Amino acid sequence: MKIFRKELWFNVPSRRGFINITPQIEECLKESGIREGLILVNAMHITASVFINDDESGLHQDFEVWLEKLAPHAPEAQYRHNVCEDNADAHLKRQVMGREVVVAVTNGKLDFGPWEQIFYGEFDGRRKKRALVKIIGE
Ligand code: ZN
Repeated sequence: MKIFRKELWFNVPSRRGFINITPQIEECLKESGIREGLILVNAMHITASVFINDDESGLHQDFEVWLEKLAPHAPEAQYRHNVCEDNADAHLKRQVMGREVVVAVTNGKLDFGPWEQIFYGEFDGRRKKRALVKIIGE
């Protein structure tokens, strides 16, 4: 069995943003040489997500509006977590959008359903943060 591990770094210049990281994950898979197995990708921060969905800009705006309705950033004083921080909404948004994804590797490729793409979701950016890529298989 082969094992591959890599950290992907991001520095989203705004508080929130979505990045399609599918090309980077495909690059990791190529580098690993693994043809059959599993890929795990997880955010290494509790205010960021890794999730799978459609790469469609209207949908991404819908996510933003929906998450702001569920957990609005302001007023900051509405959250107990914000007694010493300002990112309570980011923790809640991350919880909704998820920590990680697992994708099957078949015949050297990501075994996606139709339109599936992998995204890094940032909810408290403007600093360096990372995601973990772990691939196991043969
Ligand atoms: Zn916090």
